[in-house]
Amino acid sequence: MKIAIDGPAGAGKSTVAKILAKRLGFTYIDTGAMYRALTLKALQNKVDLNNEKELASLVHDTDITFVYHDGEQRVFCDGIDVSEAIRAPQVNEAVSRVASFPAVRKIMVEKQQRLAEKKSVVMDGRDIGECVLPDADYKFFITASVEERARRRKKELDDKGYDVDLQDLKENIIKRDKADASREVGALKILDDSIVIDTTCMRIEDVIEELLKIIGEK
Ligand code: C5P
Repeated sequence: MKIAIDGPAGAGKSTVAKILAKRLGFTYIDTGAMYRALTLKALQNKVDLNNEKELASLVHDTDITFVYHDGEQRVFCDGIDVSEAIRAPQVNEAVSRVASFPAVRKIMVEKQQRLAEKKSVVMDGRDIGECVLPDADYKFFITASVEERARRRKKELDDKGYDVDLQDLKENIIKRDKADASREVGALKILDDSIVIDTTCMRIEDVIEELLKIIGEK
């Protein structure tokens, strides 16, 4: 079974996807982490973020894997654990630009499809239902108000030791949503077969129950 979860930044997709995968015994794949890992590598290697060709060649030569450690999923880029580094504000700032290039997305989508091969997965991102898993059994679109999403991201970053301003976060979220929704390929959008869940006033447990109910009903 394949479950696609798309939605804007900070809507709680990854929290929901992680718990849902655990409850169903499926593999969880965080595609945002893959774009973040590539962005981190591009920043570290001082690659020109406007150069689609260079970025596409970088993604081609980058090995991104997920490894379970103590029940927690870690992201490795070329063998190095980058799970914390990919959440840094500099990566937040640059990731949507890197993810905007069709040549980068083409290779990334292929990598993501390979990771989902012959497995039951819950995959979250922006273009999962449309591009990565168009035949997914369920396509959820998880959203929430911008204010709520900024608050959630702040809490997440506070817990990781980053000191970020709520207003700056809100602006970054609005900017990323705009870039993610307006790009040529793999744009963030609600599909005809998306099941939309607005989590603004919902607790995580309630979102999970709602999704499990829908999955159980079909
Ligand atoms: O999900 P997360 O917020 O970590 O994703 C970071 C960024 O990666 C998004 O803002 C978007 O630009 C990009 N992304 C994407 N397609 C995906 C997943 C993430 O373009 N499937």
